[in-house]
Amino acid sequence: MSLNINLPEAQRGLGSEWLKNHPQALSAVYDFSKRVFFAVYPLLKRVAPRFSEQVITWGEARVKGWMFNCQMCGQCVLHSTGMTCPMTCPKNLRNGPCGGVRANGHCEVIPQRMCVWVQAWERSQRMTTYAHEMRLIQPPVNRALHNTSSWINMYEKIDMQTPPGWEIDAPPKAH
Ligand code: SF4
Repeated sequence: MSLNINLPEAQRGLGSEWLKNHPQALSAVYDFSKRVFFAVYPLLKRVAPRFSEQVITWGEARVKGWMFNCQMCGQCVLHSTGMTCPMTCPKNLRNGPCGGVRANGHCEVIPQRMCVWVQAWERSQRMTTYAHEMRLIQPPVNRALHNTSSWINMYEKIDMQTPPGWEIDAPPKAH
């Protein structure tokens, strides 16, 4: 039991569960932050691109690390998953729970914690703006974006790009 609670996915910042239990307010903060970021980042990028990237990545890791136990996947889907980070699922599942959710709604791997997908569903139902996005199918996470800023990746649309070789519609090659 004690080992599992020490997993990175099991960590929770002081007060962060209370915050995440107010997902509608958090999504309003997200909308506001996105508008500000998209207004300010182009200038920062022009003046000091490398420094800006470092500061933004550092700040994102600290703030979202405390609030969401962000694992810096670089492709943030928080607003689509009830403001609950899917990377805090110890199996890193991006599209709902595994078959191991316990009868009490707790995680198979970290029994001390609620399944993050049970929490994500319940929180998403308390959101008005993004509740419908809970039903979207998320693409596989691109591990090449690990430890990069999801804000910058969103602005640059890097998080929307399909890595080479991942295209599912590509016809099979003739031999
Ligand atoms: S950037 Fe990725 S790991 Fe961080 S909170 Fe968003 S979904 Fe979770």
